[in-house]
Order: sequence, then structure tokens, then C-alpha cells
Amino acid sequence: MKCRKCLKKAIIYMPEHRLALCSACYSPWFLDYTERTIRKFKMFSRRDRVLVAVSGGKDSLSLWHALNALGYEADGFYIDLGIVGSNNYSEQSKQRCFELAERIGRRLHVVSVAEEVGAPIPEIKDLTAREACSACGLIKRYFMNRYALEAEYNVIATGHNLDDEVAVLFSNVLNWNRGYLARQYPVLDEREGLKKKVKPFVYFTEKQTTVYALVNRIAYVRDECPYALGATTLSYKDLLAQLEHQAPGTKRRFLDGFYQIRALFAEAEATALVPCSRCGQPTTTEVCAYCRLVEHVERRRSAAVPVRKVAASEAAGVRPIEHEELSLHHPGS
Ligand code: SF4
Ligand code: ZN
Repeated sequence: MKCRKCLKKAIIYMPEHRLALCSACYSPWFLDYTERTIRKFKMFSRRDRVLVAVSGGKDSLSLWHALNALGYEADGFYIDLGIVGSNNYSEQSKQRCFELAERIGRRLHVVSVAEEVGAPIPEIKDLTAREACSACGLIKRYFMNRYALEAEYNVIATGHNLDDEVAVLFSNVLNWNRGYLARQYPVLDEREGLKKKVKPFVYFTEKQTTVYALVNRIAYVRDECPYALGATTLSYKDLLAQLEHQAPGTKRRFLDGFYQIRALFAEAEATALVPCSRCGQPTTTEVCAYCRLVEHVERRRSAAVPVRKVAASEAAGVRPIEHEELSLHHPGS
């Protein structure tokens, strides 16, 4: 197959766009599409300071790279979850983020869950009997918002792609989670202490972000987080991939169709936010879920009730990390 732009050998065919591109023509197309998505949803401008939540994976690192290539003021924010597993997951992920920070000359902020909460994610999971992903999601949302406020970023950008968004939408529709449906949109405007959040890769498939990372030689962590293996969204992704294979463009139509009727769920979003009585971050209850989680962890630790012994291999290598900041020679910093 030949590249539609220059007729050289294509490296990717995107049936939903009926478009084949070679490695030289792929990045310009990808960047142009990113820019168009940013403008379509009025995500941010070149006057804004963008904080990109990076995990070390292909999506978030490609996003950081692409925003930088497009000339946006985008710094990285990495949350060290303290997950070791069989592949030293968090340490590897952090390394990949630092490598890209150095390469593109941007600042990477690092915050450690072990240091802030008092225990890394595997221990929090055991101490609170919560699913790892539920505790992790809560902590990540809290840190991102708090850090963006404190460091005066205008907007938080995440690397969620089309496959992620459609799987989450599918799950929310199956369970009729009206509150989640109301908040599922590529742009959530700032309100009552919550920073603006955007997803500039919402129209790219996982394959497209992978190809961007490969073409631009972005080193990323290929292993999944060990807790991702059992996630229900993975089975939804498989199912949706079959539908997409049979009728290319199905995922995009499903997502865009939902965006058009999303207003129907808007009243579910209208819950008033108040500052948490402990930390001041916005919440719907007197004490926010994060502060309650921290309190729970402290209580269980001081009571020294061993719920499940953390395996030595899991505990090894987990060390609190200082708030690190890699200031590289960026002209704007
Ligand atoms: Fe956190 Fe779960 Fe994602 Fe792992 S898979 S990074 S635990 S949300
Ligand atoms: Zn709080």
C-alpha cells in the first residue's frame, strides 16, 4: 500500500479515515489532527500553561511530545505510584518520563504517593481493602488538581485515546452511570476549585498513538501496570475492537453521537462543590475522599493490623521520593 500524500511505502492504513501514510507523512498528519481537536473543543491556546499527566506509557508521552512539537507551553507531571510488580513498573515508568523531559527540554514534576499518603498503592490497596485502581484513580485525580492549582497551570491534559474513551462510555451506558456520563467529555471547564481538564487524543486510536511514538522514537513502558490485567474495560475493548473491525468508524460514531446528546445528563453534574474542611480541595462532602483515604491508611498503620503481608518483591524498591523537579533548559522557564 502506498502513502496517499507522497506515494512512498505506507506504514499504516487507517480504515476509518480511508487513509494510508508513510513514516515521513505520518507525524505531520498526526500533529495537524491534534491541533484541530484542540481547536474544535477550545481546549487551550499558546498563552496557557498546560500540565500533562504522564505515566510513562505511549499515549501520555506521545501527547507531551506532540504538544511540545506544536509549540505549546506543556510541562509533565508524574505520580510515582510505588508499584513494583515483576518489572519494577513505577521506576521504569518514571525513567521514561525523565528521558523525554530531557529530550524535549521541558520540566517534569514528580510526586510520590508513598510520601504524600504514607504508603504506596499496593499497600494502600491492602490497608483499605479497596481495588487498587479505585484508590489509584482517586489519588491521581486529587494530586493532578492540587498540583495544577499550586503551580498555577491553567489546564490539565491527559493522554486518553479513542479506545479508552469508547470503552468507558460503553461501561457507563451499560450501567447507566448518569453522573459519569455527564462528566465524560474531552473538555471539562474549570469550576469551583477544579482545574480545566482536556483530552487532546480523544480521536486517536491506540494504534495511532503507538505509531506516533515509534516514528518519533519515544521510549515508553510497554508493560501494562500489573493491576490493569483484570480491569473490566479490557474485555470491553476487545468487544469494541471486533465491532470496529466489522464496521470501521463505529467507535468514533458512538462517541460523537454521545457528545451530541450528553447535555441530557447535565443535571446529574450540577452537584455543588465545597472546600474540604481538612485540605481545602473541592468536594461534595465535608471531608474529601482523599483526606478520608489518608486518614484510613494512617489509622490502619498505627493499629498495626496486618491485613495481608506485602510480598517482599512488591515492597522492595518502594522508596519515598522527594518532590522532584527537573528543570531543564527551557527558554520559558
Ligand atoms: Fe493505577 Fe489501576 Fe491504572 Fe495501575 S491499572 S496505574 S493501579 S489505575
Ligand atoms: Zn481533603
